[in-house]
This record gives sequence, C-alpha cells and structure tokens, in this order.
Amino acid sequence: MSLVVQKYGGSSVADAEGIKRVAKRIVEAKRNGHQVVAVVSAMGDTTDELIDLAEQVSPIPAGRELDMLLTAGERISMALLAMAIKNLGHEAQSFTGSQAGVITDSVHNKARIIDVTPGRLRASLEEGNIAIVAGFQGVSQDSKDITTLGRGGSDTTAVALAAALDADVCEIYTDVDGVFTADPRVVKKAKKIDWISFEDMLELAASGSKVLLHRCVEYARRYNIPIHVRSSFSGLPGTWVSNEPQGDQQVEHAIISGVAHDVSEAKVTVVGVPDKPGEAAHIFRAVAEAEINIDMIVQNVSAASTGLTDISFTLPKAEGKKATAALEKIKATVGYESLRYDDQIAKISLVGAGMKTNPGVTAQFFEALSDAGVNIELISTSEIRISVVTRADDVNEAVRAVHTSFGLDSDSDEAVVYGGTGR
Ligand code: ADP
Ligand code: ASP
Ligand code: MG
Repeated sequence: MSLVVQKYGGSSVADAEGIKRVAKRIVEAKRNGHQVVAVVSAMGDTTDELIDLAEQVSPIPAGRELDMLLTAGERISMALLAMAIKNLGHEAQSFTGSQAGVITDSVHNKARIIDVTPGRLRASLEEGNIAIVAGFQGVSQDSKDITTLGRGGSDTTAVALAAALDADVCEIYTDVDGVFTADPRVVKKAKKIDWISFEDMLELAASGSKVLLHRCVEYARRYNIPIHVRSSFSGLPGTWVSNEPQGDQQVEHAIISGVAHDVSEAKVTVVGVPDKPGEAAHIFRAVAEAEINIDMIVQNVSAASTGLTDISFTLPKAEGKKATAALEKIKATVGYESLRYDDQIAKISLVGAGMKTNPGVTAQFFEALSDAGVNIELISTSEIRISVVTRADDVNEAVRAVHTSFGLDSDSDEAVVYGGTGR
C-alpha cells in the first residue's frame, strides 16, 4: 500500500465548508487505496490575527509564549478536520507536532527540524486511521518547549514527515493550480509550470514565491522527495518539483523559470560608519547575536574627506525592531552617526538556470525596469538569480514589466486564484 502525505494550507481550510471539502479529498485518497497523512495549517489568516493580538498586549512578545499562542491555530484545524472525516464514515486521529514526533532545536519562532520520530503516526496508520498532523510546530529536544518553524512552516512539516515515513509523494494543496512563472495575484498572464527543478524552485522560494517555503524545498532536495503543488479547489494536475522530470512531465527549455517578488523585507542603513577594519564585523555580529537572518548587504565607498561610509542591509520586517534595538546598543562603541529604517521596499528577482550561459539577461532585466520607470536601490546576484530592491509602490508594475520582457506571458488568462486573501 502506498503512503501519501498531503498538506492543506490555510486558504484551503478557511471555513467549515473548506474543511468539509478537504475532508472529502482526503477520504478519496484513502478510498483509492493509499495510507494518508494530512498536514494542516491554521484556518485562513488565523496566524496573522494571533500575531496582531499578541502585539496589542506586548510590542515584542516573548518567543516562547508566541509559539504557544500560534500553535493553537493549527490545533483548531486539525481537530475540526478529524471530526469532518469521521463524519464521512472514516477513522481519523489528529496529532500535534510534538505527538507526531517533530523534534526541533530551541530557536523560538523559527525552529529547525532536527529529527522526526513518527512512531505514533505509523501505529495510527497501521490501525487503518487517517492521520491528521498540525503543521508548523514541533517540540524542542533540549527545552521540551513547543516551537514553531517560521511563517509558512507547514510546508516543511509535510516534507519532513514524507521523508521520515518514506512516502511516495508529498502533495502541497493550496489556492492556485501550481507554481506559476510569477505570482498569479500580480500577473494574470502568469503561466503554470508543469515541472521545475529543486534548484530553480529553491531560488524562487528564497526570493519570496511563498507558494512553497524555501526550507521545505531544501528538505525535499536533501531527501529527494518529489513535491506535487496543486489546488485543493480544482481537480487539475499541478506542478512537479523534483530532481528530474518523470514520464510526461513537460519541461520548458526557457532561460528564465520565473519572476519572484517579496514585500516582507525592510532596509536598515547604518549611516556614518568609520571606515576601518572590524566595523562591519562588529555590526553584523550584533545582528547575528539577536538571531536575525539578513539578506542583501551593500557598503558604499567611503567619502575621502570624512573617512565615513554607509552600510545598508535587508532583513525580514518582522525582525526590524529587534535589529534596530541591537544596533542602538553598539552605537557608541562602533561610533556610527545614525540609523535609518525603511520598510517601504520590495525585492524583485529573476530566476533561471539558463542565465548562467546567457550574458544578456542582466542588461535586459535592468532595461525592462527602466522602461517601466522603476528605480533600483540595491542589487544582488547568484549564479541563477538577479535581485533588485525598489520602492514598494513600484512592485506590481515592475514584476509585470519583467515578466513580459522575458516572454513569459501566456496567451490566455489562465492564472486562477481560488481563495485566500494574499496576506
Ligand atoms: P497556503 O495557505 O496554501 O499555504 P500561501 O498563501 O502560503 O498558501 O501560498 C499560495 C500563494 O502563493 C498563492 O495564492 C500566490 O498568491 C502566491 N504565489 C507567489 N508566487 C507564486 C508563484 N510563482 N506561483 C504560484 N503562487 C505564487
Ligand atoms: N499557519 C502558519 C502561517 O500562517 C504556517 C503555515 O501556514 O504554513 O505561517
Ligand atoms: Mg504557505
């Protein structure tokens, strides 16, 4: 008997109707002879609403308590889904992340999975049950406290369970028909991709295509778990993410796989840093000690007359307060002049393995932005990606302009968005 792991995102279980619809789909997989483990996210925008609530009682909520609060969201959906499945005459049991054996490190709000011990899930499946698991959560090996895996972390739960249970496939059900050449909420003419490599998907995910979380893709690549991203609202086949295309999976030999955008980052500029060895190290040590991951970094050439330079970097908006607080503390020792914080930025990235061998891609990217009247503030590149930071107001126009310029527009308006609020 084959085993499938299915994951249903918040938009798929947004209300009672959604939960009943998902229950039917899970039962169908069971009827087709599969053992089924279903990972669920919190209903709709529950996680965002819980974060808003926490911030109303405390501007920087304690990590441990925030995790305790947020994991309640997934508990609600897992219990309701198990009830809905029982109502259809099938046996189901729900499990928290901890009960399912998702063991993490102890970094609250963005813990990493370090081990998965799914003994209870296996036993439940052997008894003929459908196992429902709360996504996005685990338990710390050291502190035994409840942790969460970072926003969008249910994707990672699903792939980690698929690897630990040796599943044949991990299906990620969401509110669009698969991975598109750009976010269908922004580009109506985005094309659905039938097959994409782990490598390109990893860059798209890391650049803000939140249809899959990058940690989930990393995990899938490490354990070679094929992912099928598809809609829980339609019966259409979706996008396969794997090492090699299988059977009739269509491969487009395009230079560019897609355009990603990200409005979840902010930019910090440390103004007037003395241009001498050790200052950058000091600044980024302080940021690292606050456990903040940074993305792009730019340091200007120092002005000869003053010997001072500016250092800018980008980071998740959610970490903005923590970062500026950490930098304020070292102001006197570093001797910089001031801090600037700007959360009205967007990052736009072009991704594709084909750019390694096509030298004109960067120029064409910048030309498309300039033709659209979009100003570039920061630039960073990898072998298969170019990213720029622009004003947040320009993001939609910039993404569309780049998408059109690289010939990615489809002939039809095929990109359907079935649900969700895009939050
Ligand atoms: P879920 O609630 O199922 O986890 P998410 O909101 O996390 O769903 O992810 C699905 C959303 O990802 C889509 O609604 C879409 O707006 C967005 N998205 C961004 N980039 C892409 C892309 N390249 N292809 C498909 N969807 C994308
Ligand atoms: N509910 C969590 C979030 O909104 C996890 C997830 O949906 O994957 O980030
Ligand atoms: Mg998601």
